[in-house]
Amino acid sequence: MKANPDVVIIGGGLAGLTSAIHLSKSGLKVTLIEKNEYPKHKVCGEYISNEVSPYFQWLGLKIFDLQPSLISKMEFSTAKGKIISGDLPLGGFGISRYELDNYLYQKAIENGCQIIQDTVIDVQFIENEFRVFTSDNFELKSKIVLGAFGKRSNIDQKLNRDFMRKNSPWLAVKAHYSGDFPNDLVGLHNFKGGYCGVSKVENNKINICYLADYETFKQYKNIEEFQSKVVCKNPHLKAIFENCTIFFEKPITISQISFEKKEAVENHILMIGDTAGLIHPLCGNGMAMAIHSAKIVSELIIQYLDNKICSRKELEKKYTREWNKNFKSRLATGRFLSKILRMENLAGFLMQLLAIFPFLLPRIIKKTHGKPIILKS
Ligand SMILES: Cc1cc2nc3c(=O)[nH]c(=O)nc-3n(C[C@H](O)[C@H](O)[C@H](O)COP(=O)(O)OP(=O)(O)OC[C@H]3O[C@@H](n4cnc5c(N)ncnc54)[C@H](O)[C@@H]3O)c2cc1C
Repeated sequence: MKANPDVVIIGGGLAGLTSAIHLSKSGLKVTLIEKNEYPKHKVCGEYISNEVSPYFQWLGLKIFDLQPSLISKMEFSTAKGKIISGDLPLGGFGISRYELDNYLYQKAIENGCQIIQDTVIDVQFIENEFRVFTSDNFELKSKIVLGAFGKRSNIDQKLNRDFMRKNSPWLAVKAHYSGDFPNDLVGLHNFKGGYCGVSKVENNKINICYLADYETFKQYKNIEEFQSKVVCKNPHLKAIFENCTIFFEKPITISQISFEKKEAVENHILMIGDTAGLIHPLCGNGMAMAIHSAKIVSELIIQYLDNKICSRKELEKKYTREWNKNFKSRLATGRFLSKILRMENLAGFLMQLLAIFPFLLPRIIKKTHGKPIILKS
């Protein structure tokens, strides 16, 4: 094993892998620790906004070689099936996490990153240095640690983070299907206590992924019953499920999802992606935010290790400021929209408003999305 990396990254999802690629491209020694193997399916809507495309190009990533679906339109329906549709202001693409994360993993290795398959069980910060401990009894020392361990992890527990003490009332279900669905469309369909995203990924597969509130879900025996009695009350979802055939043996699920506020820096660990804050998936922007936060943190780390940022305190302050500037209001809009959609009357009113003033839809979408990520050099 290489001695003491400059940066240890905990978690190899989009945020962790992107920062690993960025930092190693800039000549830094990076070790990333990921508990799972690649490739692996993940619960996600798998629609990525085009705001990441210039940055991916700069990193030398040829995502379009993976033949994602190109998405430029959206349709949106209320639980009762009222529908409105429009263009996505920036558009995006559909690619499975199975393919995308594995592609980034290969690129990180090509760039010289060390990737260890193991689970981090503790991180200590002593005398201006981190010590990272894993379940296989590895101990790594480094100047910088990035927290890229996703929505909810054993490390959140270890750090006693605030959001872990609050209610996490959401679960999510996802599977890939075959069937007819337009290549260029993302559908966002509400149902009582949740919403479902439908769009194509590579190889003509359809991703159906929904978020549901646990209180409603637990009243039903299993996923099939919940889908037929609750999700398919929305006539658009009924038609989609009736016309699609599942590819997976059974859908994959995650639970205890929280949209509570988190800190961007804790115990001197710089948090990126969902570890710093999860936007409501209704906004379809969590992946782009994870990738964008990886860029912001990587640029600041490079400056810090080049002595252009003179102290750790300044690094942490700058990162928190940048994070808030780029993402805070998007998260707040996401929380606000999800609240409205859970109130049937207000949701109905919003839809009527959008039907009369359709130009408002792209404006709302813009509030939850960023601009294409600009590179300085
Ligand atoms: C239902 C749902 C639908 C969504 N749909 C979309 C969408 O369509 N478009 C969009 O842009 N966003 C969507 N999102 C959001 C998106 O999935 C996330 O924002 C994105 O995955 C964040 O990436 P990440 O790298 O922060 O976390 P992750 O991809 O979750 O990566 C975290 C990694 O850390 C690893 N890890 C955790 N703990 C440890 C440990 N102790 N040691 C080692 N490794 C560890 C995990 O195994 C994991 O691989 C959706 C989210 C949900 C819940």
